[in-house]
Amino acid sequence: MSKLSLHDIVIKDKKVLMRVDFNVPLNEDGTISDDTRIKATIPSIEYILNQGGSLILISHLGRPKKGGEPHLSLKICAEKLSKLLKKPVVFISDVLGENVKNALSEMTNGDIILLENLRFYKAEEHPETDPSFAKQIASYGDIYVNDAFGCSHRKHSSIFKIPTYFEGKAASGFLLDKETAFLNTIVQQPKRPFYAILGGSKISTKIGVIKNLIEKIDALFLGGGMAFTFLKAQGIKIGDSVYEEAFLEEAKEIIKKSQEKAVKLWLPIDFVISCKEEVKTVNSKDGIPDGWAGMDIGEKTIKEWEEGLKTASTVFWNGPVGVFEKETFSKGTNELAKTLSNLSATTIIGGGDSLAAIQKLHLHEKFTHISTGGGATLEYLEFGHLPGIDALSER
Ligand code: ADP
Ligand code: MG
Repeated sequence: MSKLSLHDIVIKDKKVLMRVDFNVPLNEDGTISDDTRIKATIPSIEYILNQGGSLILISHLGRPKKGGEPHLSLKICAEKLSKLLKKPVVFISDVLGENVKNALSEMTNGDIILLENLRFYKAEEHPETDPSFAKQIASYGDIYVNDAFGCSHRKHSSIFKIPTYFEGKAASGFLLDKETAFLNTIVQQPKRPFYAILGGSKISTKIGVIKNLIEKIDALFLGGGMAFTFLKAQGIKIGDSVYEEAFLEEAKEIIKKSQEKAVKLWLPIDFVISCKEEVKTVNSKDGIPDGWAGMDIGEKTIKEWEEGLKTASTVFWNGPVGVFEKETFSKGTNELAKTLSNLSATTIIGGGDSLAAIQKLHLHEKFTHISTGGGATLEYLEFGHLPGIDALSER
């Protein structure tokens, strides 16, 4: 079964209600620090307008606590989008109410409206608290499109409830199609050898995807904070490094499974460790002394992994291999990004922090696909589907 896509529907003279992911990172002065997510929706937006439809865009931004926080208004995104499209984008400072109704009644083909931050209403994240929220918003459009891949793992009103009001008329946008198509290539028929590199701080957030990927990959490179639970599982001293006791058994199981499946497991052979202001490098086999914490993979690991990765045909990377936000501990992640950017293999990167690391180095053009989703990417790889995709109409 496949889902209805934007290409499948007649748009002319229709009002299209499209969920986009304009949850952009902001600078301290409130300006947009990276507009990748806005740019990524432009193909769908232009297609709809060129086909003679009009557009009502809905999105969230950040995590409002009370609702109505001025610094979380989507107004800046309307301005940014208007610049990118070189045409007016009408911003309505609410999601419900008279202003929205009036704006909708004045809309003609080719017009584009962005509504205010959906999360200013509690019912966006908690649909059960007010089902009329989704119903009301659904009434704005003739057609529903989900182009918010990065939010599609959430069972929120705009992702999971609103599409249920569009029987036979809830479609995926081009960004959603593109994201799932790339992820499908690694889930279904990756070019081999297929390697995965996983980092980040905790195993708990990645365990599902590790278990799923181990069935499909030829080698697994584990760095970042989660590597320490694996080292501990092998009886190595890890000092004060991040460690999740509750996942020690799971780590042992993954080590066993990788042996059974002949999946080569690459754990760091050396680490940059720190204790207060002091920093030094140790070999993994010697262990990390008490009071010291592992903060980045070491030089030897960087070299060894670089060699190992050269044979890849497909690589999926999620999660920095060190505390890359601090210059002192960013070398492993930066060198890894450079190594991957020079490979001729298919390279797919997912995750907010991984993306930030790549962008800092201006390497984002050098990868086959950079996913706009973090959690959504991992859940798609783990389960093969997402609530927001399930909610769309069948083709
Ligand atoms: P992504 O957003 O790409 O999915 P995660 O959110 O899972 O990545 O992980 C990113 C975080 O992991 C970063 O904040 C980084 O500082 C942290 N991290 C990486 N290595 C370590 C380490 N050795 N110890 C503690 N935290 C780490
Ligand atoms: Mg993150």
